[in-house]
Amino acid sequence: MKNISILGATGSIGTQALEVIEANPELYKVTALTAQSNADLLIAQALKFKPLMVVIGDERQYKSVKAALSATGIKVLAGEAALCEAASLAETDLVLTAIVGSVGLKPTIAAIEAKKDIGLANKETLVVAGDLITSLAKQHGVKIIPVDSEHSAIFQCLVGEAVDTIEKIYLTASGGPFRGKERAFLANVTKAEALKHPNWVMGAKITIDSASLMNKGLEVIEARWLFDLNVDQIDVIVHPQSIVHSLVQFNDGSMKAQMGLPDMKLPIHYAFAYPGRISSNFKRFNFMDYPELTFSKADRGTFRNLDLAFEALRRAGNMPCIINAANEVVVNAFLQNQIGFLEMSDIIEQCMSDISFIATPTLNNYLETDQHTRIFAGELVTK
Ligand code: NDP
Ligand code: MG
Repeated sequence: MKNISILGATGSIGTQALEVIEANPELYKVTALTAQSNADLLIAQALKFKPLMVVIGDERQYKSVKAALSATGIKVLAGEAALCEAASLAETDLVLTAIVGSVGLKPTIAAIEAKKDIGLANKETLVVAGDLITSLAKQHGVKIIPVDSEHSAIFQCLVGEAVDTIEKIYLTASGGPFRGKERAFLANVTKAEALKHPNWVMGAKITIDSASLMNKGLEVIEARWLFDLNVDQIDVIVHPQSIVHSLVQFNDGSMKAQMGLPDMKLPIHYAFAYPGRISSNFKRFNFMDYPELTFSKADRGTFRNLDLAFEALRRAGNMPCIINAANEVVVNAFLQNQIGFLEMSDIIEQCMSDISFIATPTLNNYLETDQHTRIFAGELVTK
């Protein structure tokens, strides 16, 4: 029996993780669940899965969650700091980080310091402070098992392989809803159009990131830290069918790919089952449904975010933290119709050139960079 805590249980990844757990009651038990504001769903999940603890981020909803769960004996906490308690609960074996954004940083650190293995969906945490997180995990003997489909693919390809045999990796990208479009088209796209991803149903932030290719940029940085690669070992290839989830090229010229239907329950299930595999009844791939799997170059001239992310990774230090914070602000602004689609990259680039660079940041430096960048990017949005 594996005891699992889910940070961000009410989101796209969180709810799919609970489906995986529900299908395997003899293998997994839920120990803690957290949500930001969706109290109704959190309460329903708690009544069904009976965790030891729930955390509601929005403190105004504490009383109603507490009242709804009063007869259950489930401990109810509220506020950002309580996320760290949920992340470090003594009874937990694995923490699934399915919160969106850099707010996942502190609870992930708390989980690692409490020696919990991490199922990592919250990529922003690795983008912001990949060096700190990976060295902390090493220090505490904690495994970080990727849930992001591309990284799960690479992780699966590397089972039984020596890391120093990796020549390079290819992260596949669907290209999102605007693949093949030009800048003139992108200047006028609406939020509703950007939210229509061709292959995946996901939370709003990552769906916009997929449309702007920032998601792939963040994944390049995530891969750098997960697999200890240098920037020149990471490439991106557009694969609109989202069947080949990513590939590794080894030093003998051989390549390994991991394939499957686009269903996040698969990498979630793998992360929970790791180091083994457990059978599932997920829909199987049918070759006749996909007579063609195609691959092409990413259009970096049109989708500038990808180059900005590579540049942030090359410049290192707090630059990935800057790009992530700026991106969180502009995605939010785009979702509120405050800025256009192309302005997102403009503001991110401005933040990269104006926020103070720190070559070897401490945790505090990262937290301050995150704050400063959010304020500066917010000013650029209102301008
Ligand atoms: P969602 O927006 O669907 O869910 C986010 C979850 O985090 C919800 O439970 C939400 O609570 C909670 N949350 C939101 N804001 C805060 C906050 N400030 N503090 C604490 N909790 C908060 O996101 P996704 O599930 O799509 O994505 C989660 C993470 O997984 C992201 O980092 C994303 O990049 C990554 N990922 C997602 C994939 C997907 O298919 N969705 C694929 C690969 C990676 P509430 O519901 O109450 O708002
Ligand atoms: Mg992904």
